[in-house]
Amino acid sequence: MNQDVELTDVLVVGFGPVGAALACLLARQGIKTTVVERNLDIFDAPRAIALDNEALRILQMCGLEDGALDLVAIPEVRMHCPQFGQYSRAVTVGMVDGHPRLVTFFQPQLEQALRRQVAGHSGVSVRLGWALESLSDQGRQVHAQVRDAAGNQREIRASFVVGADGASSLVRSLIGQDFKGKTYAEDWLIVDAKNVKQSIDHVEFICDHRRPTPHMVAPGNRQRWEFKLRRHETREQMERPEMVHSLLSPWSQGQDIEIERIAVYRFHARVADKFQQGRVFLAGDAAHITPPFVGQGLVSGLRDAANLAWKLAWVIQGHAKSDLLDSYTLERLPHAKSMINLARMMGRLVMPSNAAAAWLVHGFMKLASVTPRLKDLFENLEMKAPQQYRAGCFVRHRHGARLRGGGLFPQVWLHERATNKKALSDDVIGSGFALVAFGVDAAQSIPAHLLARWQAMGGSVTHIYPCAAQSPRPGMRIWEDMTGMFMPSKIPMGWLVLVRPDKVIYSDSPADRANQMIESAMAALHGGQSVVTAPGLHA
Ligand SMILES: Cc1cc2nc3c(=O)[nH]c(=O)nc-3n(C[C@H](O)[C@H](O)[C@H](O)COP(=O)(O)OP(=O)(O)OC[C@H]3O[C@@H](n4cnc5c(N)ncnc54)[C@H](O)[C@@H]3O)c2cc1C
Repeated sequence: MNQDVELTDVLVVGFGPVGAALACLLARQGIKTTVVERNLDIFDAPRAIALDNEALRILQMCGLEDGALDLVAIPEVRMHCPQFGQYSRAVTVGMVDGHPRLVTFFQPQLEQALRRQVAGHSGVSVRLGWALESLSDQGRQVHAQVRDAAGNQREIRASFVVGADGASSLVRSLIGQDFKGKTYAEDWLIVDAKNVKQSIDHVEFICDHRRPTPHMVAPGNRQRWEFKLRRHETREQMERPEMVHSLLSPWSQGQDIEIERIAVYRFHARVADKFQQGRVFLAGDAAHITPPFVGQGLVSGLRDAANLAWKLAWVIQGHAKSDLLDSYTLERLPHAKSMINLARMMGRLVMPSNAAAAWLVHGFMKLASVTPRLKDLFENLEMKAPQQYRAGCFVRHRHGARLRGGGLFPQVWLHERATNKKALSDDVIGSGFALVAFGVDAAQSIPAHLLARWQAMGGSVTHIYPCAAQSPRPGMRIWEDMTGMFMPSKIPMGWLVLVRPDKVIYSDSPADRANQMIESAMAALHGGQSVVTAPGLHA
C-alpha cells in the first residue's frame, strides 16, 4: 500500500463547530477519527450567536465544562413595532435539563473551546489546510482524495465519512444529494459591536417593516444588530463605515461605537433529501440550512453530531448492525425541517414585508398575547417542537405514557451522599447505553452473565433514589434526586428507563422487566432490527 495512504475509522470533512463537536463525541466513544479542514484558522465572520438548552447539553456531552466559554443568559425576547409598541414576547428565563433556555455566545470562542477539547484526545488527528477533493465508496471503505497544506495529493481510507463541510458542501455534491428549498431574495447586514454605552440584557426584534432589526446582547460586552437591506441597497453601500454608523445612531448617543465585525448575508431555507448515502453522511449546514430567526442552525447541527456519533461508534465497535445508521436520516431530517419551518414562520410573523401586512400580523400577535392558548404558543415557546422522533431507534411508547421512546431523557442534578458529590445526571449515567433504575435495586435482579455482556458493550446501570433514601444494600452506589425533579412527577418509583448515548429514551418499563429490557435492546441492535418506522416513513 502507498505510504501516503492514511487509515482511519471516521473521516470528518470540515472542522467548523459541527465537525469539531462530532470529533469530540467520536473520540469519547474511543473511535479513531481524522478531521480535514481546508482553512488554517477559525472562520471569524459574524455567524451564530444564540444557543438553546439542548445545544448546551450536547456541548456538555462533548466534555465542555462550565466556564469553557462566556455565555449571557437571555431572560426574554421582545418584539416591538411602530404601530403597537411591544406587541409580543417570549419568556426564555430559567433552566431546562440543567441548562439555561437561551444564551448568547461568541462563535469563534466556542470553536476554540471545541478544538481544545479535540486536542485532548489522542485518537483524533486534525489536518488543518487539507481540502477534500473527491470520494469513492468502495463498499467496505471510503477512499478520499485530499490536498494537503503543501499542495500534495493524499489518500485517506475510512470506514465512514461525515461531510460537516458547511452550506456549500462538496461531500453533499459528491454523493449526489440535492439541496431543496428556498433562498430569500433578502440580504441582511450583520453588525457586531463592542463596548456600547447603551446596555441591553435581552433580545429584541424591532419589527419596523421598513427596516426590520433584530438586536441582542452578547458576551464580551458585545451587541449584535441585523439590518434588513432595502430593495435598492447594495452590499458595498451597506458595509461602508459611514452607513454602519448611521444605522447604529439610535444606540450610539453621539458616541463612537467600536465595530468589531460586519458581513452581509443572504439567508436560505434548504435541506438535503437524505443525510446518508452508503458509508457517507452529512451533518450540520452540509445537511440543512435555516434563516437564523429562531437561532436553530448550529443547534440542529449539534443535534446531528450527538445523534450520529454513537451510532457510528456502535457499528464500528461491533455492538450494532449497520442498519442502525438508517435511523440517522429518519430521526434527524423531520426535526431539522420543522426547525426550518419555524424559522420561516417567525420571519413572516415578526418581519412582514409591507405596512398592511405589518398591521395585520402584529395586531393579531398583540391580540394573541392576551389569549391564554395562543399566549402559551408564543410566550412559553410551545411553538418550538420538542425533539420527539416518530421513527428511528427506540421502542414505541404506549398511548398516553409519561415517558416517550424517541424523546429526550430529562436531566437533573444528583447527589451522592457517600462522597458528597453533586453532578448532572448525564455525567453520572455516562456516554454509553444506560439502564437507569428509579427507587429500585435493578442490578440485583440482572444475572451476572447478562450484566457482563451489557457492560462489555459499554452499558451501565445507575440507581437513583429520592432524597435522603437509604441504600438498600451495603456497598451499593445510589444517587439522590436532589431537587425531586425526576421522581415522582416525571418518573414513577420502581421504574426503569433505557437511555441511548445521545440521551434519547430507548425504552422504559416496570422494574421486574430489567432482563428483558436489556436482552431485547441488545438483540435488536445486534440482530439488525433496531430501527422502527412510522407509517409512511421508510428506513
Ligand atoms: C448571520 C448568521 C447568524 C446565525 N445565527 C445562528 C444562531 O443564533 N444560532 C444557531 O444555532 N445558528 C446560527 N447560525 C447558523 C450557524 O452559524 C451555522 O449553522 C454553523 O456555523 C454551521 O456549522 P457547520 O460546522 O455545519 O459549518 P461551517 O461552520 O460552515 O464549517 C464547515 C467547515 O468545513 C470546511 N470545508 C468546506 N469544504 C471543505 C473541504 N472540501 N475540505 C475540507 N474542509 C472543508 C470549511 O472551511 C469550514 O471550516 C447563523 C448563521 C449566520 C450566517
